[in-house]
Amino acid sequence: RKEKDNSFDYFFFVQQWPGSYCDAKGKKCCFPVTGDPGPYFGIHGLWPNRNDGSYPDTCTNEQFDSSELHDVVDNLNKNWGTLACKRGMSGDNEDFWDHEWAKHGTCSGFTQHQYFEASLNLYNDYDITAALAEAGIVPDDSFYPISQISKAFTNLLGFAPQIECNIDPEGNKQLYQVYICVAKDGKTLIKCPTAIRNPCQGSVQFPVFDSAAESDQR
Ligand code: 5GP
Ligand code: 5GP
Ligand code: 5GP
Repeated sequence: RKEKDNSFDYFFFVQQWPGSYCDAKGKKCCFPVTGDPGPYFGIHGLWPNRNDGSYPDTCTNEQFDSSELHDVVDNLNKNWGTLACKRGMSGDNEDFWDHEWAKHGTCSGFTQHQYFEASLNLYNDYDITAALAEAGIVPDDSFYPISQISKAFTNLLGFAPQIECNIDPEGNKQLYQVYICVAKDGKTLIKCPTAIRNPCQGSVQFPVFDSAAESDQR
């Protein structure tokens, strides 16, 4: 039996545009009871990755324990909220964090507290929503070339992130997730060693996101 390979070379720090997540589901997303997301990218996860594009997952059975996150829970609720519905109702942020910790965090070499704190620090140190706004790229349902979006991110980060799109029910390609590459220390940004499987190209929609106007399933 082959030993499980838990090694990795760097992290993808992944953020999601709530408008694209919700639009792709025909606006049938849900917001957590801790509060609606604002019109900002939110955290999806910090994912260990290998230079060959593969990645380890579920590396230890260390259980998620929210009692270790008291000092960061407000920041997590604000910036790492779930948009997924649970039986048609609000999802639970802790379920999302548990999933990300179990699948990716247990491979990071970090304690749980270090894993979530590193993610929040990256989020707070590099405001990708603001970087787009400074370049005149705003969520107004219009289309922007990926080259222009990538340039705005590169001005902020020093390196081009990987960009993933999804498709809304009308067939529009839209800006969905941004993958920033980070060294194993969880803080130093690096040039991405590998591209994601499906990098986005061409001209893409940046959907409006106003949580009050989404048909929240609650
Ligand atoms: P406000 O007082 O309007 O909530 O926020 C003040 C500024 O902080 C806003 O201009 C906005 O750029 C930023 N801000 C507020 N909440 C968030 C958030 O959840 N994420 C990010 N990235 N920026 C925020
Ligand atoms: P999807 O198939 O929706 O792109 O990804 C499903 C899940 O697989 C993601 O939520 C993430 O947990 C994992 N995943 C997908 N692509 C990558 C990747 O390039 N690197 C890592 N580390 N995980 C990935
Ligand atoms: P991944 O396995 O790709 O890291 O994360 C995807 C899993 O997290 C899916 O099972 C999905 O249902 C769950 N999830 C919970 N909340 C969210 C959210 O806000 N966005 C995304 N993309 N997935 C979420």
